[in-house]
Amino acid sequence: MTQFMTSRFWNVSSAYGQLDGLEEIVESAKAAIRTLIGAEPNDEVIFTSGATESNVWAVAEGARRCTSCRWILSSQIEHPSINESLENLQKQGVEVRWVPVTRNGTFDLNKLADLVDYNLCFASLMFAHNETGVIQPLREAAILIRERAPQCLIHTDATQAIGKMPVSLLDELSMVDLISFSGHKFHGPKGIGGLIIRNGKTLQPLICGGGQQQNLRSGTINIPAIAGISAAATKCGKLLQENRHISIQLIRDKFEEHIRLHFPDVFILGKQAPRLPNTSFWGIPGIDADDFVYTSATHGIVIGKGSACSAQSLKPSHTAMLMGYSYDEASSLVRVSSSFDTSLNELIDFSDKIHESYP
Ligand code: PLP
Repeated sequence: MTQFMTSRFWNVSSAYGQLDGLEEIVESAKAAIRTLIGAEPNDEVIFTSGATESNVWAVAEGARRCTSCRWILSSQIEHPSINESLENLQKQGVEVRWVPVTRNGTFDLNKLADLVDYNLCFASLMFAHNETGVIQPLREAAILIRERAPQCLIHTDATQAIGKMPVSLLDELSMVDLISFSGHKFHGPKGIGGLIIRNGKTLQPLICGGGQQQNLRSGTINIPAIAGISAAATKCGKLLQENRHISIQLIRDKFEEHIRLHFPDVFILGKQAPRLPNTSFWGIPGIDADDFVYTSATHGIVIGKGSACSAQSLKPSHTAMLMGYSYDEASSLVRVSSSFDTSLNELIDFSDKIHESYP
């Protein structure tokens, strides 16, 4: 990244940029993303400023396709970039139907089956949840949608899963047309992500202007960030091949056991469902999350109250309440997430320190 901010500070689209081979840097970043998710060369990767932009773009495309009598499907637990974009469309008169979740935090597939019909034109269903880490039955949902609404454009926000666990366009994501991802979820820089466009789908650009990236996403190409996401995708791809996500999951499970030893009434959200290997979302009755986060910080341990985008919100997790947890239970929830570099000792040390603070 440093060389592209200093000695190779050209615009990719300029003659200097072309002479310096910057287009190849972009192409090799696309190849690194494709390798990470088992994509084919004809699966188009368009870089954006992050998953928020990718999600907003996907919804805008869905809205464009939604002519009279047609409607949009999403879930009640999507990231705000989806939920709020769709709520805005509802205010303009577009019909949106929302899939609820079960106590485990997974989409309620029976309810989804009741909702879907031939007039569904766009579906946006996330792949892994940003707070609970619960991995959704996306393939099953997409099969159902394809059976009843073959023309439906299907988008998934796979931001939380890509780079943290093996995912493949030949497997879990095989039925979807559009996929959002973000670099900072897998050790890449912030402010870079993308939208993968599959099955030859044609999209209208969200951001128009200089016509960069095949006229699909204008704006000077962010070469340092693209070099960063490329390096991160390559590195995380190797770690996943070495099954490091399995070690992370074992560490997370042992940590949860340890927390339960100290606090027997801890409740862990989505524990019965498949989850991201690195995420643990739990509460201890009677201990407020704000207090917990502050106490952890005094021990030098940074944990979250929920996802960073809702951390400023005074309201407890909306997803937890949709899963059937009470307001008080939701007010005690903290999210502990680890990286490929986190050790079991660090997590055990954390739970011991927390136990000392709440004996
Ligand atoms: N979607 C999900 C599921 C996320 O967790 C996040 C970020 O936390 C986003 C979208 C937004 O990503 P970005 O920060 O790249 O805009």
